[in-house]
Amino acid sequence: MNTEDTDDLEVGLGHHGIGRIVLPFCESFGPFKQVNAWRFGPTDALQLVDCGPPGEAAFAALSEALEGARLARFIASHAHWDHVGQAGRVCQLFDVPLEISGAEWSVFERQFRAFEPDLCAFLSHCGEGRRQSALLQAHTARMKIPGSAPDRVSVLEAATTTELAGLDWDVEVWSGHSVGAFVFACKDAPVVFVGDQLFTGVTPFVGVEITDPLADPLATQFAFLDRIASLPDHVICLPGHGSPFTRASVQAEGQRASLLRRLDRMADTVTSPVSCADLVRGLSPGAEAKRGYIVRLRATLGLLNHLCAIGTLVREDRGAGRGYGFARA
Ligand SMILES: [Zn+2]
Repeated sequence: MNTEDTDDLEVGLGHHGIGRIVLPFCESFGPFKQVNAWRFGPTDALQLVDCGPPGEAAFAALSEALEGARLARFIASHAHWDHVGQAGRVCQLFDVPLEISGAEWSVFERQFRAFEPDLCAFLSHCGEGRRQSALLQAHTARMKIPGSAPDRVSVLEAATTTELAGLDWDVEVWSGHSVGAFVFACKDAPVVFVGDQLFTGVTPFVGVEITDPLADPLATQFAFLDRIASLPDHVICLPGHGSPFTRASVQAEGQRASLLRRLDRMADTVTSPVSCADLVRGLSPGAEAKRGYIVRLRATLGLLNHLCAIGTLVREDRGAGRGYGFARA
């Protein structure tokens, strides 16, 4: 898709009262330099979906975009730090509750209390029982979102209808990239908000939450891709990063192929019984000291669990706090 196409899509969305607010990342983050917030409806009754990462650069950009606006609603697509980093501030400044799915709120609220026990249990599960305290020290602070919790929260449930920009939208909740992200499918116009479940050119993170290390997020992500692949080509998708796009089925098939390749590579890597942590350290020596180590464990466990679910691998509890091992079935 060229720039002109993208501009045309943004203009078309503008006619529906939908606009993209591009916010900067506070640090370089994988393939993305920016994150989207989306605005729906008129400035005097603005509905905002997402609010960017923590930090003053994103706050300044968001404040500028919202200058003079009265906020009627504030929704978080999911609770990853790059989408809810300003949530406490937005709720306070505009005196609105944060609307979020119940599953995402259970993850988000953990940010504001001690989640060390959850992280300990997760590290043990991965086979890091012995190195737990050093890892806890290295990674706990990195995983916390700075700032205060939203002071009011309202849970928005799946299978309901909600109004954005004067249009009716079906509320869907999908897990895969996170535990319960919103997808909003417009009933009155060919537009679907997909958030971080689907991008162009990049395969989103798919992995387990630290509180649910036995989950199979790839199964739900594949189900989501089936659902998206059924969208007509002209439907405009609103992503959490990057420009809006059409031809969702092409993106969905690209993501499915990429996830299947990752599964194949992981299946080939497991030749003898191994823990999740040993796999990650084997593939990337020194990974445990790096910032993204917990995220890599979560993604790897997602692949391993799915390979168990489809019968390629078996998982066994090695006992005595040594976590789980994975082996060929
Ligand atoms: Zn994101």
